[in-house]
Amino acid sequence: MKIGITGGKGGTGKSTVATALAVELAKKNKILLLDLDVDCPNDHLILSIRRQKIRNIYQQIPKWDYKKCIKCDKCSQVCKFKAIVSIQGKYPIFIPEQCPGCNACSIVCPVGAINKEKKKIGTLYKGKNKNIDFISGELEPNQPVSEFIVGAVKKYIKSQEKKYDFILIDTAAGTHCDVIAALSDCDVVLAVTEPTPLGAHDLDLILQLTKILKLSTKIVLNKANIGDKNLIDKIVKKYRTEIIAKIPYKKSIIKAYSRGEPIKDKAIIKITDFIRFFQQEKK
Ligand code: SF4
Ligand code: SF4
Repeated sequence: MKIGITGGKGGTGKSTVATALAVELAKKNKILLLDLDVDCPNDHLILSIRRQKIRNIYQQIPKWDYKKCIKCDKCSQVCKFKAIVSIQGKYPIFIPEQCPGCNACSIVCPVGAINKEKKKIGTLYKGKNKNIDFISGELEPNQPVSEFIVGAVKKYIKSQEKKYDFILIDTAAGTHCDVIAALSDCDVVLAVTEPTPLGAHDLDLILQLTKILKLSTKIVLNKANIGDKNLIDKIVKKYRTEIIAKIPYKKSIIKAYSRGEPIKDKAIIKITDFIRFFQQEKK
């Protein structure tokens, strides 16, 4: 069973919930935790996992053969990502940092002047601790293709999925392509939020997304004893979902967080109870 842990907003406690849940579930189950917050993976720090590199992740990007180029400008016109700069009468100038490798320029070039080459865009890592198998993908700085890294991690684990009782997927914040790629095949999604106007706004966005993706989504309310819970209740009602656990803002949790350790709280037990119940229902 695959469980996505997400939240429209950064800093709501996704990684805190994902790692604590992994620790709790791993007491009796075989667990794989995927850190797919590929811009800034940090679950391994919380779980004291020493990561080992599996391999580099590459992407195909265009390479110009200026001997063939007739300076027709078609490649820069078709590039929606502004990765090709055209100056009249000059050869096109390529900006690799802007290029997600869509291949359109190569297709439109009338003289076959655009070939392909490999560019490193990220790294795949693995690790293990506390009975949790761990995989993460990390994007190279200044690359626009985080969803490629998410796709590469998911492809890598495909053949191993059956070994695990639960696969936990910790996503990036937001509702962009990398989050969609991370959540797309989850059985259930946990949206972690906090009772603030920003938390409510971004929860609304993530619930819009999971509704479109037809993913069953439940809410975990972090810092539940501060802020205005009514803000979240309105969104919960709007999407006809429910809050399955409330994590309080309290000293022991802040201490664990500041030490970079997984948190312990009865709210985490509640989430595991929900997951077991959901798993039974699914059967
Ligand atoms: S591969 Fe796509 S994004 Fe990259 S330069 Fe060509 S058209 Fe632009
Ligand atoms: S489309 Fe081909 S021929 Fe035209 S400018 Fe680009 S590389 Fe040169």
